[in-house]
Amino acid sequence: MFVYLDNSSTTKPYEQVVEIMTKVLREDFGNPSSLHTLGIDSEKYVKAARKSLAKAMGISSDDFYFTSCGTESDNAAIFGACNGSKYKGKKIITTKVEHPAVLEPIRRLEMAGFEVTYLDVDRKCHLNMEQLKSAISKDTALISVMAINNETGTIMPINEIAETKERFNKEHGCQVIFHTDAVQALGKIPLKMNGVDIASVSGHKIHGPKGIGGLYIKKGLSIPAYMIGGGQEHNMRSGTENTAGIAGFGIAADICAEGFETRTAAMKKAKQRLLTGLKSEMKDIYINSPEDDTASPSVLNVSFIGTRGEVLLHTLEQEGIFVSTGSACSSNKKGQSHVLTAMGLSPKVIEGTIRFSFSEFNTEEEMDYTVEKVKETVNKFRRLGSFR
Ligand code: PLP
Repeated sequence: MFVYLDNSSTTKPYEQVVEIMTKVLREDFGNPSSLHTLGIDSEKYVKAARKSLAKAMGISSDDFYFTSCGTESDNAAIFGACNGSKYKGKKIITTKVEHPAVLEPIRRLEMAGFEVTYLDVDRKCHLNMEQLKSAISKDTALISVMAINNETGTIMPINEIAETKERFNKEHGCQVIFHTDAVQALGKIPLKMNGVDIASVSGHKIHGPKGIGGLYIKKGLSIPAYMIGGGQEHNMRSGTENTAGIAGFGIAADICAEGFETRTAAMKKAKQRLLTGLKSEMKDIYINSPEDDTASPSVLNVSFIGTRGEVLLHTLEQEGIFVSTGSACSSNKKGQSHVLTAMGLSPKVIEGTIRFSFSEFNTEEEMDYTVEKVKETVNKFRRLGSFR
C-alpha cells in the first residue's frame, strides 16, 4: 500500500493543476507584459489566479502579490516591515517555534541591532498571549506569529493577536505591523485577515505547484518594494511572472476554497482514525499535537519512546508509508527540532518523534494499515533495545 502522510512538507498537485500548467507551458507561454495577444492571454491567467487567491484568503485581489515561494514571502514581509522607515522602532516580537523562513531573517535583523522577543510556548505549542501583550511597545516594528505550526499543527491565536495589535495601535497612535506566516493554514482553517497586515502563503502546500508563493499586504501599508526591476506585481516584486506556477496556484486555491468543508472533514477523519488507533494499540507514546479545537486537521505529531524517528521513518518507507521526523526544511540539518525543544520535550523524547500530515486523499484503510505498521516497527525496535 502507498500511504503519503507528509503533506506538510509538500502535497501532490491536483490533476487540474497539472493540466492548466501544461497548457500554459505548451500553448499560452507569452509574457504577461507583452502587448500582443499571447501576452494578453497570459496576463488573463495571472489576473484570474490573483482573484482566486484573494477569494481563498478573504482579501481584495489588489492586495495580493505573487512571489516565488513561502520563504520569499516571509523574507519580504519581515525585511519590508522592519526596514520600511528609519523612524520605526527597533523591536520585533516572534515565537520560538516559527519556521526558519521567519527565524533566519529575524536573526539577521537581530545582528543588525534589532531587539527580539522570542515568545515561549507550552507543551502543546500554544503561545503565551500574556507574554505577547506585555512585550508590545511603541518601539515594536513587527509582530510575526505563524497561523499554524508546521511540526505540531497547533493553531495560533491569530485573531486575538490582530485585535491586541489594533487596540495597541489605536491607544498609542503607533503602527505596529502584524505578519502571519499562513503557509500551513491556507486551506486547513478558515482564514480571517482582519487586523493582519501581511500574510505569507505557498502553492505547494495546497496541492499547487512548487516555486510559487504569495503575499497579502494590507492596502495603505508602506512596505518598500523588495525586488526591483521591470515593475511587475504592481511594482512590489519585479521579475517576469511564473505564469504556469501562478495559474496552477490559482486552480489549487479555487479547489481549496470550494471544497473547504469536505476536504478538511476528510483530513480530520483520517487524522482521528490514526490517533485513536495509535492510542489504543500502543504504549509509551506522547501526543505532541493539541487534541482540542486548537488542533489543525492536517498534522499529528507523536513521540514513540525508546525509538529513533529517523530509523522509524526509513523502516515505514519500506512498507510504503511516507512520514517526516519534523519539518522537511529542518530535517536535513543537524540538531533537534527547535519547536519540540521550545515545547519542553527532552532530547530522548524528541528523538523518537514522527510527524504524520494529512490530505483529503487519505483513507481510513490507509490509517489502519499505518497503525499496524507503526506498531510492528516500534515494537521490533523496542525489543531490540538501543539500536544506535
Ligand atoms: N513557513 C512554513 C510554516 C512552512 O511550513 C514552510 C515550508 O515548509 C515555509 C514557510 C516555506 O515555504 P516554501 O517551501 O514555499 O518556501
